[in-house]
Amino acid sequence: MSAKASTLRSSGIFSSHKPAKSTVVRPITFRDIQGYLDTSSNYLAPFRPMGAGSSSTDCSTATAGTVIDMTGMDQIMKIDAYADTVTVQAGVRLHRLVDALADNGLELAGNYDLMNRTVGGAVAGGCIGPSMTADGAFFARHVIGMKVITPAGDFLEINQQKKNILNAFRLSYGMLGIICVITLRVRPIKGFAVNHRRCTIDQLAASASKLATANIGLKFYLLPFRDRVYLDLRSYSPETRSTHSIPWKIKDWGESTVLPHVFKSIGRIVPISRFRYRLIDGISEATQGLVNNRLVSSGDNAATQSLRVNGLQNTSPLQYSTWCFPATDFSVVAKAYENFCLDTYSETQFRCDMPTVGFLLARDRSALLSPTFDEPMFALRAVSTPCGGWEDFVIDFAEFAQHWGGSPFFNQTRSIEPDYARHAFGSRIDFFRKIRRQLDPANRMMNSFLSQYFL
Ligand SMILES: Cc1cc2nc3c(=O)[nH]c(=O)nc-3n(C[C@H](O)[C@H](O)[C@H](O)COP(=O)(O)OP(=O)(O)OC[C@H]3O[C@@H](n4cnc5c(N)ncnc54)[C@H](O)[C@@H]3O)c2cc1C
Repeated sequence: MSAKASTLRSSGIFSSHKPAKSTVVRPITFRDIQGYLDTSSNYLAPFRPMGAGSSSTDCSTATAGTVIDMTGMDQIMKIDAYADTVTVQAGVRLHRLVDALADNGLELAGNYDLMNRTVGGAVAGGCIGPSMTADGAFFARHVIGMKVITPAGDFLEINQQKKNILNAFRLSYGMLGIICVITLRVRPIKGFAVNHRRCTIDQLAASASKLATANIGLKFYLLPFRDRVYLDLRSYSPETRSTHSIPWKIKDWGESTVLPHVFKSIGRIVPISRFRYRLIDGISEATQGLVNNRLVSSGDNAATQSLRVNGLQNTSPLQYSTWCFPATDFSVVAKAYENFCLDTYSETQFRCDMPTVGFLLARDRSALLSPTFDEPMFALRAVSTPCGGWEDFVIDFAEFAQHWGGSPFFNQTRSIEPDYARHAFGSRIDFFRKIRRQLDPANRMMNSFLSQYFL
């Protein structure tokens, strides 16, 4: 067993000056997990499962308890090209799965960035990307079966016949049990066309409701201080047969690796904020214009999913907080978000150095805690390299989002007010809590962050 200290990151609501140590274990088998959870074992609650550790909240921390690092359970167990399904252990990284499926002419039925995350983390946490509306909003939607160890250490098998429990386990943030094996629906590789557009925030606002009803995939980069939006619009196209992954890899490498490091260095060597941000925004615009507009015009879910940020597990060069906003209000929210960024900067001198990333999310009822259960939404992810002022910014962003009816992910959204979570999910969070209490009456998988919302 390897044991090491893990610290409690600030959630914006709770903070700890002297974090107690947690033990980190890395199981290989079901039995290992049952051993940790055995009440006579030396391992202490809370028990928190962890995948790649790329979440931005304290959802997987276990102060004085046990973090169960699932990355050792990383077998791709079965690819069934006739039934279009794949069965994997929860610790498999998405990029390995995508590559193995592509070797069999298959792909995930949706498009998701950040390929270093684990399948278990993508099912139990929010996992979104520029998926076409018809493919649903979340990775978890495509799960058709799971093998789970419950908080009491029992083995539980869930399939589509147990719809309610399957829907509760999707986006369950590791509160209902440890997901060990997952069967996903996949499909033959299917090409799509990619269009890039540049517009102002007003123009995005004006077309928001039209975009929300189209069967497209949409990712955008919003630069509030330049009044610019760069859109990546995808639509299925029978003519697009195959595509090469190299241009997509260059694009992702530019966005996820080069830009954060360049911006971090500029932050150190250009002390005057006016010049620093002018330079940073100029580089962002040039990158979007060059890399995106020129490099890629077609894709498929096998070739485009390459974003592999190295050094995850709390050491990513980026910090972020994501909120989803109803598509019906987005024409107003987009403009309000621009004003919020400008006002915050003039009052506090803080602004994010990376562009805000946005996605269109389809209405998706596959998970009880789905933020888009009732309607399609636009997600806005504020992103920045680490710098002073960020912690206050995420609290202000949460206030802004809560005012505009935003909906959170408990692993990606910082500083959610507990009362607001109840308001955002209504009776669905009550139903989830009821299932949680049945599976974990002793609250063995609750940490202080999750307790705010789910006890
Ligand atoms: C640079 C960067 C870019 C990102 N881009 C995106 C993006 O484009 N789209 C997006 O949606 N997210 C993005 N994220 C957020 C994050 O990567 C996702 O939410 C991801 O799905 C989390 O996966 P993970 O393996 O890191 O899980 P973790 O962060 O380790 O865990 C997520 C949650 O799932 C639970 N969990 C993990 N494994 C299990 C298991 N086996 N059983 C039960 N519960 C489990 C954990 O307890 C936790 O509550 C990004 C993050 C970074 C740092």
